[in-house]
This record gives sequence, structure tokens and C-alpha cells, in this order.
Amino acid sequence: MKKFFNWIFRKSFYESIPYEDLMSRQRFTLFRIFTYTAFLASTFSALQIQALYTEVHFLAASMFVLAMVILVNFLRVKNQDQLPVAYTISVLSGFLVVHMQSYYSGGLMNAGTMYLCVLIMTAFMLLGTKAGKWVTGLAVLSIAFLFYATEYTNWTSYELFKNDPALIHQDAIVTFLLAVLLVAAQSNYLHSGKNVIIERITLQKDQLEISNRKLQDYTVHLERTNKELDKFASIVSHDLKAPLRAIGNLTGWIEEDGGDTLIPEVRANFNMIKQRVKRMEDLINAILDYSRADRRVSDDVEINTRELVIDTLDFIGKPENVQLHVSEKLPVIVSDKTRLSQIFSNLLSNGIKYNDKKEIRLDVDVEVQADGWIFSVKDNGPGIEEQYQEKIFVIFQTLNRRDDVESTGVGLAIVKKIIEDQGGKIWVESALGEGSTFKFFWPREQKELDPVIIAAPILV
Ligand code: ADP
Repeated sequence: MKKFFNWIFRKSFYESIPYEDLMSRQRFTLFRIFTYTAFLASTFSALQIQALYTEVHFLAASMFVLAMVILVNFLRVKNQDQLPVAYTISVLSGFLVVHMQSYYSGGLMNAGTMYLCVLIMTAFMLLGTKAGKWVTGLAVLSIAFLFYATEYTNWTSYELFKNDPALIHQDAIVTFLLAVLLVAAQSNYLHSGKNVIIERITLQKDQLEISNRKLQDYTVHLERTNKELDKFASIVSHDLKAPLRAIGNLTGWIEEDGGDTLIPEVRANFNMIKQRVKRMEDLINAILDYSRADRRVSDDVEINTRELVIDTLDFIGKPENVQLHVSEKLPVIVSDKTRLSQIFSNLLSNGIKYNDKKEIRLDVDVEVQADGWIFSVKDNGPGIEEQYQEKIFVIFQTLNRRDDVESTGVGLAIVKKIIEDQGGKIWVESALGEGSTFKFFWPREQKELDPVIIAAPILV
């Protein structure tokens, strides 16, 4: 029995429509409702009409045939590609049933024309707007034709009701009620919980509420961990800096006490200690900067990026031997000024700090893209070998010996963090001995951010 119902309602066919394809599933459900209501209404009308005659009546036979067409059309569909044709056959058969029945039973005086409303609604939903409009046109033509036939010709008659006023009256009320009930039932279905789309939305809403609650718990947890981390970073840095400062001070005092008696070797060692102490302090500060690098509320303002680049280099201190060329194309944008300035200050200072040429040249340029800008900072320095081009963006990674250039290896890690937080990307194009071009994509639409940085490196 269950199998039989599964078959007549085409359950397995319905299941074969992809779960995500809500519209197709919704349409097929409607197709099922339409098929069985039209089939039943048509068959019963045919039987009702035939009951009035002893011989087979043309209308009753045609309506029965159309009812069968509607049913077989539904049952024979094998794959989804056949659905549009099946939907069209159903709607047109339904139209013929309504039209013929009206024509044979009082024309426009027959309330069966009300069924046209159901047909129009079904056509829009099964076949889409264009076909829906066509069926609406067809319905209007049918009504106009029936109006003409009823009013000005004797083509239509009440013959089906044997011209019995009581029967006519009764039939009009029955068909009118049936039509209203059909429209109401379908509309109710579409807005009820059984509607595939509404069902899915409700399900997703429930799932969303659950994930939302989880997310809220997670956010609270994250905020707590963040605060703890902040506290941890400042405690650690404070506790690490104190003994460092003590070492620095003690070394200074021993040097002072020793005065001229210190042999040059010892003096050189003291200098080395002081240098290492300073480096350690720089590293601690860098860790702090990095840990804060994504926690500053963004301040979107109008920025003339060309001026920003020039000002930034002035701020970090432009040595005499540096020539800065900033392209005229650099745009005026609305963005986060502090973050952008932080990026340029790191890239420009690196271009100078790691440069091995006497005359340093820096070029800043831009490529405008649909969804943002690719800024580039080019230098005439030593260049970076391909194998290190990704490594340099990792925190604490440096290519130079620390004794050659003071470097913590944090600057580019911070820059990368800022850019990626905004939905951008940074990379370097370079070859050993040919200078480096750092390029970064800065999106037009930046991600909503809450929380940064700081630490513009001062060169001179
Ligand atoms: P820091 O903050 O100490 O300057 P970065 O993270 O900015 O360190 O850079 C990491 C390493 O990448 C540097 O130690 C340097 O070796 C290399 N580097 C960065 N910029 C350049 C550049 N413009 N030219 C050559 N090497 C560079």
C-alpha cells in the first residue's frame, strides 16, 4: 500500500531532485497537487455530465480523456529535463477542460470559468512569468470568446442541465465554491508550514539560531582569552624588561667604575653586552606590537595616498641619500589612515634600511583594480632570493646577520597581518641583485574590523 502511494505521488522522483534546488522541489509539489485536483475535478464532472445522457456524450468523453492525459502526464515523467514539457501539457489540458466545460454549459454564465484563476496561478508558478502571462492572455481570450458566444450567438446552451433552472443554479454555486476552495487550498498550502521553501527556511532559521548561540559563547570565550593574552603580554614584557634594564645599568656602572683601567677588549665586550640588551628590548617591544597588530578600531577617512607616502617618509626621517619618486596616479581613497601609514612606513624604511647602494631610490606606484588598488614600493637594494620571498613575512625571520643590520624580523609580519585582516594580500617581486618590489592589494571594501599597531620605525 505504502509502495502504491509512493508511486502515485512520485516520492522517489521528488527525492531525486537535488535537496538544494528548492524551486524545482516546490514546483514539483505543486505539479502533484494540480494533477490530482484537476484529475479528480475533471473525472467527476465527466461522470456527472454523462449521468444525464444515455449515449456517450462528447463533452463527458473529452473531459475524461483530458483527465487521463493530466494523470498519465504526471506519472510518466522520468527525469527532470522532461518537467517543463510536462508542466506545459498539464496547464494546457487544464485550460481545455475549463474552456470546453464552460462552452457546453452556459458559456460565461457558468461559474466554471473561475477555474481559470487557478490555472493562471499554477502557470505562473510552474512555468514562470513569461508562460504565466501567455496563459493569462489565453484565459482573457477564452472569457471574451465565451462572452461573445453567450451574449450574441446561440452556440452555448444549458443543454447539459436539460435547461432545468434548478440544476443550472446548483451547478453554478457548486463550481464557484469548488474554484474558490481550490484557489484557497493552493494559496494556503503555499503559505503553510508544508511549503517546501518555508519548511527549509524554518529549518535553516533553527540551525542559524543554534550556530548563533554557539558563536556568541565562542565570542565571549575569545574576548576573555584576548584579555588574558593582553595581560600576559604586558606582564611578560614588563618582567623581561626589568632584568634587562638591570643588566644594562650594571654594565654601565662597571664600565664607569673601571674608567681608563679597562683594557680595550673588555670595553668591546661591554659594548657587545649593551648592544645585545638593546636588541632584546627591541624584540620584546616587537612582540608587543605584533600582539596588538589587529586590535585598533579602524578610522576611515579621506586620504590622499600620494601625500600620505611623502609624509610617512618625512615622519620616519628621510636620509640625504634617498630619492623618493611617488607616482601621480596614487589615488585619493577613503580608508584607514593609520593602518595604511603603518604599511608604507614599514615598506619604505625596509627599502632604506636593507639597501646596499650609496644612492637609494624608492618608487611608489599603483595599479587601479575594480575592487581595490595594488600599491607597490620598489627599491634599488640587494634584492631577495626567491626561496626567501615568503619567509620574510614570517615573524622573526631575517635574512641579514643581526650584527650587520639591527632587525627583529617583525615589521613585514605586522604589515602582512594588517593587510590580510583587511581582506588584502602582500607579496614581493625580486631577484638577487636587482632590487625588490613589494606589492600589496588594498581592497576598496574593507572588512568590518574592531580592533592595532603602532610602532612606526624611526630611522634617524
Ligand atoms: P624588520 O622589522 O626587522 O625590519 P622585516 O620583517 O621588515 O624585519 O623584514 C624581514 C627581513 O626581510 C629583513 O631582515 C630583511 O632581511 C628582509 N627585507 C625586508 N625588506 C627588504 C628589502 N626592501 N630589501 C631587501 N631585504 C628586505
